[in-house]
This record gives sequence, structure tokens and C-alpha cells, in this order.
Amino acid sequence: MVTRHDFVIVGGGIVGLATAYALGTRHPDATLLLIEKEDDVAQHQTGRNSGVIHSGIYYAPGSLKARMCRAGNASITAFCDEYGLPYDRCGKVIVATRPEERAGLERLHARAVEHGLPVRRLDAGEVREIEPHVQAVAGLHLSMTGIVDYAAICRTLAGVILARGGQLRFGTEVTGVRQDTGGYQLETSAGPAAAHVLVNCAGLHSDRVARMAGADPQSQIVPFRGEYYELRPERRHLVKHLIYPVPNPDFPFLGVHFTRMIDGSVHAGPNAVLAFAREGYHKTALNLRDLGESLRYPGFQKLARKNVREGAMEMWRSLSKAAFVRSLQTLIPEVTADDIVPSKAGVRAQALTPGGQLVDDFLLVDGPSALHVCNAPSPAATSSFEIGRTIAARVPVPAHLSAAHHPGRKQGALL
Ligand SMILES: Cc1cc2nc3c(=O)[nH]c(=O)nc-3n(C[C@H](O)[C@H](O)[C@H](O)COP(=O)(O)OP(=O)(O)OC[C@H]3O[C@@H](n4cnc5c(N)ncnc54)[C@H](O)[C@@H]3O)c2cc1C
Repeated sequence: MVTRHDFVIVGGGIVGLATAYALGTRHPDATLLLIEKEDDVAQHQTGRNSGVIHSGIYYAPGSLKARMCRAGNASITAFCDEYGLPYDRCGKVIVATRPEERAGLERLHARAVEHGLPVRRLDAGEVREIEPHVQAVAGLHLSMTGIVDYAAICRTLAGVILARGGQLRFGTEVTGVRQDTGGYQLETSAGPAAAHVLVNCAGLHSDRVARMAGADPQSQIVPFRGEYYELRPERRHLVKHLIYPVPNPDFPFLGVHFTRMIDGSVHAGPNAVLAFAREGYHKTALNLRDLGESLRYPGFQKLARKNVREGAMEMWRSLSKAAFVRSLQTLIPEVTADDIVPSKAGVRAQALTPGGQLVDDFLLVDGPSALHVCNAPSPAATSSFEIGRTIAARVPVPAHLSAAHHPGRKQGALL
């Protein structure tokens, strides 16, 4: 007979691991299994992002993103302090490079004030004091923004979950989910599993896992690849901290920016192009099922019609290094094509409604004895501990748990 775990979490990215950690903290006696299809943690979005601990400036007041990012900024660094993981609260500048962008900068300033974030207005000279190679008419400085290695956090989380008695099953794909009287039966590539409560943190595949379990996410994941270049080591001095443009308010992505990573390298990007595969990290990567689902989806068709120009620009910038460099030169005019080399890409799992709206906020969908994380784009890495805590407080608790006491629980196992 298959052992039924109190909680089964699908997905070993930072959201799944932070959720397993929070469930283990809240219910120390619970049996917990995390299932991940890859052979290690953080192989998709979490291990391929910009590594930024966001401040929360961009997000709509009252949104989950605004609340969880602000709190997550603190909880990520608290976890790093507790486990001796490196991070750097290096601060960031958002810069207006043209007078027309001043209004956007002012709107961001007002939002930062509304969120209670420490923010400082900068004139052109003050921008240059912080980032001597940036050409700007004005800027904002946010001291709470930092950098970290999210994959390192995931490895530490995995160790803590194991040490507390949880189980991690790698190289195991969930291929089917069936509700039964005790919770859920799962089919996986490594045999069956069973859960009292199911938590779906499957990132790029979260909508599919939700549907398998009978939930309706009322949206579909559309994958947007973000490509990066990296500054050659001898040109890293051009970037001291983090340099962002004023984002286009009609677009959910932040615009190509310069990011100093925790290992000292400097990344430039990411752009945002439709990926022809949900895990399509190269321009040529193609998965017919994934692409067909995106193209046939009415939401995508509506979005594409509305954003023909921006979409074409992004595609062009993906294909043409010269176009990418021109975007970077708006921030740092002296960057040349010779200064940058391609770096690894990431794919964002962005939920899109059938009406063609990009789901802006985090989307948590409840099911019977289940919770599905159906939209967790940036800043979900920053917010991960808060998402995890929220889920742990929100999911139903198996009846036997409150009364149960399990003395001498066994050490966890890597299955
Ligand atoms: C280019 C880029 C830059 C970003 N920059 C930042 C940033 O600087 N700061 C920030 O806060 N956020 C950033 N983000 C967003 C952040 O990385 C994501 O929000 C976060 O990593 C989402 O974590 P996750 O655990 O939900 O997803 P993932 O990390 O994608 O994990 C989901 C996991 O589920 C597994 N899985 C899927 N289906 C199954 C299945 N059927 N069975 C078993 N396992 C399955 C996958 O293998 C995967 O490991 C960025 C994202 C991208 C793509």
C-alpha cells in the first residue's frame, strides 16, 4: 500500500521548498513529501533569474506582490543570516534617461513613499556619483534592494527539510492526479504517491498540474524567455550596483537592466520573448505541444494582437545583438557589442487570462484539500518565504495532525 503523506508538494523551486519549510515549521509532526522532476533543486525559474532581492516598489498597493515582497525582502535576508548564506544589500538605481521618463520616475517615487520604502530622488550628478558610467537625467535610489543566490537558498532549504524528517523525491515527474476520499492519489514517473493535502508549486507547469487535480486556474501559463548577456570581466567596472530603466507601465516586465550578481559577474537583460517551449532556454528550442497550446489560446491571441509592436521589438532584440546593445546603451552609452557575451537564459511562467490579460498578482487557487500556485512570477523568489507561510496557514490540516504526537521521528530521506 502507498503511504499517504500529510502534505505532498509538487515542485522543487524556491516556492515549493519555502512552502515545505513553512509547513514543516507550522506542523512539526506532519509527514511531508516534495516531488521534483529534475535531479536537483532550482533547475528552472529559480536557478535562472537575476538574483535580485526586490524592494517592492513596483507593485500595486494592496496586492499580494506588494505585501509579500516587502516582507519577503526581510525574511530572505533573515534566513541567509541564520544559515550563513551570502547576500549583499547593495541598493539599486532606477534611472530616467530622457526627460519624458521623469513622470514615470515620479510615479514610482510616489509609490515607494506609499509603500513606506526608503527612497531617495537623484539628480543627474547624484546618479553619476553612484553609477559613474550611467547617463541619466534623474533617478531614484532604493537602499533595500539586494542580491543573493536563490539556488543556494534552495539547497539549504532542502537540507533543513530533510533534517526535520521531510522527504525529497528527485527525478520524479507527477503525471497524473486523482482525488480520493483521503485526499489525492498521484501517478509519478517513479510510481504512485498519496497525499492528504496537495500543494502545487510546479512553476511553468502549474496550470497543467492544477487541471490534473480537477482545479480550474482560469488562466494558462504562457512562457516568456528572458535572455541575458554578461559583461566581460574587464568591463565589469562599468556597473557598481543594479541599474534599471523606468519600466513601461503597460508591460509586466522591468526592461533590460544591469545586475551585479553575488558572484561578482554582471548580467545585462533579460528581454521578454515568447518561448516556443515551456522550458525553452535556447532560441531554437521547440515543443510542439507547448507552442500549440500558446498559439491556440484565445488569451494569447488577444495579447499578441494588442502588443504587435512591442512583441516584434522584443523578437528583434532577441535576434539582433546590435539591437540588444542599443537598449543597454540607453543606460550606459559606452557599452559596446564587444563588451558582452551571451549568458544563460530563463523562462518566466506568466499566467494569462482567456481575455488576454497578464495576471499581474500572485495567484493562489484553492481546491478541495489542495492549493495551487498558478502565478508566481517575479518577485516570487524575493517573496517565497511569505508565499510559503501564507500557504501553510491557508491549506486544510489533516484531522489526525492536531491530536497526533510522533515521538522519535526518523531522519528524512532523499528518495
Ligand atoms: C529571467 C528571470 C528573472 C527573474 N528575476 C527575479 C529576481 O531577480 N528576483 C525575484 O524575486 N524573482 C525573479 N524572477 C522570478 C522568480 O525566479 C520566480 O518567480 C520563482 O523562481 C518561481 O519559483 P517556483 O518555485 O514557483 O518555480 P520554479 O523555480 O520554476 O520551480 C518549479 C519546479 O516545479 C518542477 N515541476 C514542474 N512540473 C512538475 C511535475 N509535473 N512533477 C514534478 N516536478 C515538476 C520544475 O521542474 C521546477 O523545478 C525571475 C524569473 C525569471 C525567469
